[in-house]
Amino acid sequence: ETLDKGLEKTKTSFFSKLSKAVAGKSKVDDEVLDNLEEILVSSDVGVNTTLKIIERIEERVSKDKYLGTDELNQILREEIAGLLSETNTGEGTDFEIPANKKPYVLMVVGVNGVGKTTTIGKLAYQFKKAGHNVVLGAADTFRAAAIDQLQVWADRVGVPIVKQQMGSDPASVAFDTLQSAVTQNADVVIIDTAGRLHNKVNLMNELSKVKRVMQKVVGDAPHDVLLVLDGSTGQNAFEQAKQFTAATEVTSLAVTKLDGTAKGGVVIGISDQFQIPVKYIGVGEGIEDLQVFNKYEFVDSFFK
Ligand code: GDP
Repeated sequence: ETLDKGLEKTKTSFFSKLSKAVAGKSKVDDEVLDNLEEILVSSDVGVNTTLKIIERIEERVSKDKYLGTDELNQILREEIAGLLSETNTGEGTDFEIPANKKPYVLMVVGVNGVGKTTTIGKLAYQFKKAGHNVVLGAADTFRAAAIDQLQVWADRVGVPIVKQQMGSDPASVAFDTLQSAVTQNADVVIIDTAGRLHNKVNLMNELSKVKRVMQKVVGDAPHDVLLVLDGSTGQNAFEQAKQFTAATEVTSLAVTKLDGTAKGGVVIGISDQFQIPVKYIGVGEGIEDLQVFNKYEFVDSFFK
């Protein structure tokens, strides 16, 4: 229900454009496909992924000779779900952590303003609700506001936070956080990291140092590197994904602010283009407004 609410804008826009594209047409022809291409691109699915989808539909048209526009919804739904399935193999229902990792270490990356802190807060809330002991680490030490904001969320959720002064070494904060987590026998550690992109080499060095130092405490940390992207920023989100994946190994994505945009298609494009699963989507500012990404529900929400 929240998902429907969260994706309302994307859904309405996508669906009304699609109905216009097929209005007065009984079969899928070149004109319908051209229109569809435009709709997908304008929903921020991205050019490469759009072309992939169009190609797959063309293939089906040429195989069946005739494809009615009334079937187009169903076929689009199948093709998009199929595309998402190539990367998003999980079903995505619960906020789960692997039982054999303790503490489970989640490192969160992303530029300022995308909703990184909010996503960490929402995740801490969900993990705590699921009965896990959570510790936060404020390793985004570049801005005082980043540390303060994380503290606000730690208080709101009621979980401990490890922090140092602004400007301190992020790797040192991460190290302290993991040590503290191990001492407290914590289940989950969420490490906030720097969000500066303007110097790629620095970013790369900083993130690899944070990883290296964490591994002194927990040998195989981090278990997940979550990149947070603002879903309402379209091509910027693509660009950030490009830069962060070049700087470090990103293992999952959180796409935020999908409630405020008609461009929810960005989820499909980024996941496909970078071959990284989308784990969470943000659909509002509230503590409960984070969902585990479910590809079927997501695709269905476009066509309902
Ligand atoms: P950070 O700088 O990346 O840590 O960003 P913040 O977590 O401080 O978020 C920036 C702004 O985006 C805040 O006003 C958040 O409330 C808002 N925000 C974060 N996630 C979402 C979301 O899923 N939907 C909406 N509408 N707003 C969000």
